[in-house]
Amino acid sequence: MMKHELPALPYNYNALEPHYNEQTLRLHHSAHHKSYVDGLNNAETKLEQARLEGDYSLIKHWERELAFHGSGHLLHNLFWESMSPRGGDPGEAAVTQRINQDFGSFDAFKEHFSKAAATVEGSGWALLCWHRQLDKLLVLTSEKHQNLSIWGAEPLMVIDMWEHAYYLQYQNKKAAYIEAWWNLINWDEVNKKFATATK
Ligand code: FE
Repeated sequence: MMKHELPALPYNYNALEPHYNEQTLRLHHSAHHKSYVDGLNNAETKLEQARLEGDYSLIKHWERELAFHGSGHLLHNLFWESMSPRGGDPGEAAVTQRINQDFGSFDAFKEHFSKAAATVEGSGWALLCWHRQLDKLLVLTSEKHQNLSIWGAEPLMVIDMWEHAYYLQYQNKKAAYIEAWWNLINWDEVNKKFATATK
């Protein structure tokens, strides 16, 4: 069976300083993200074993593990892609215009997204998504990695609100982490994903 691998970051561990420091990024990527990749591979191996042996007594557990680690892996990929050392400027791209249309203004979107991120209960994420059927941009949050989603929503950018994402650098100052993160957003990448999702 094909194994998933921890992808290399598109920048160096110190490239997002001072908004996201080297120690935090290194641990987040090399330890936390890696554990989701390992967990996903393990769940897939165990499910393959269950099929081969016809033994589905632990199916509920391994399906949970598959959803948890699979979502954790994909969301971390998106999180790294959501940031850039040259990020922060939303410019006039198509996604920015659509943000203005769907959220009233860029500032209203920024406040909506930041408040949603700050009030995630326990561990989770805030995401900007495109939904083809609803024909609009949505701010969604998730508990852990996989709960509270809407089927069919295509994530465009995400912020990691698990404590491991910010605690080393920001401790309990969640709002400061979120505010600094706006300086890192890779709007070229967000717009590229928007163009693909709306094609
Ligand atoms: Fe994380």
